[in-house]
Amino acid sequence: MEYAIGVDIGGTKIHFAAVDREGRIVDSHRVPSEAQLGADHVMSVVLKGVDATIKRLPSGAIATGIGVGSAGQINFETGTVEYAGSQLPGWTGTPITRILKEKFHLPAYADNDVNAIAVAEQMYGAGRGMNSFIVVALGTGIGGAIVEAGRVVRGALGCAGELGHVSVDFNGPTCENCGNNGCVELYASGSGIARIGRKIIAEGGGAVPWQPDSKEIAQAWLQGERYASQVMDIAIRALAAAIAGYIHMCNPQAVILGGGVSEAGAPFLNALDQEIKSRTSAAVRSAYRLLPAYVGNDAGVIGAAGQVWLYENG
Ligand SMILES: [Zn+2]
Repeated sequence: MEYAIGVDIGGTKIHFAAVDREGRIVDSHRVPSEAQLGADHVMSVVLKGVDATIKRLPSGAIATGIGVGSAGQINFETGTVEYAGSQLPGWTGTPITRILKEKFHLPAYADNDVNAIAVAEQMYGAGRGMNSFIVVALGTGIGGAIVEAGRVVRGALGCAGELGHVSVDFNGPTCENCGNNGCVELYASGSGIARIGRKIIAEGGGAVPWQPDSKEIAQAWLQGERYASQVMDIAIRALAAAIAGYIHMCNPQAVILGGGVSEAGAPFLNALDQEIKSRTSAAVRSAYRLLPAYVGNDAGVIGAAGQVWLYENG
């Protein structure tokens, strides 16, 4: 039996798993990233976790390769971190795949964490059988991935698909991450929804310092609370405007949405889809479907490992 070793590197946790060709996890564990201790420390945590995962494989099983999904912008061709922000201090420039290959003598791949989620959805999830789709990952920020002709679109340095930094208001507030104004991330990410929530509560003379997070706001929206419907109306219109832009640009078969307020389920997806439809021209509108991400909480590590199977023949 062959297994791919998947590693999903985030700012707070690193998730390791042995995953088979069908995307089934046989062994999985998470450890703190301890990112504040620097890149060398994070890399040593990665090496230890991979080593432990290989040693725990069922008897007679072999590790075929190692696949990494990491926060930040990763150059897939070189397997090196192109840029990582404050989530992983010092991570920029780390030659992830070179270090893994030297230590384990196995094929190794590294990509951005949302690109890894796109691989999981393509191989095992909502994007199965599709050549052209977009993944929108709602979290503290908004991440994205574009799959075209069955391959993740990477651009010049592996940084393509930064869908959270598409502006939906050129007069909007300045985005600290990129310098543009009115990035969709400022309205529809977890932190964006919480920010607008605070503003609307304060304007309404509401209880301060009550500061609901985006999940509480989504719950309140489902229960029909007025402040929450004002907040979610802004979030949904901003996200729909951005997604309509992606749809006009890429003419995808699907837009796959996961994380954050998308966990509010069908009411959210339906409201968003209605708004997207009102903002797209007939031809592209008829081609796409808005789908919830399928693979779930382990998508990052399953997709990271999935690279080993997807790219083993080039
Ligand atoms: Zn931005």
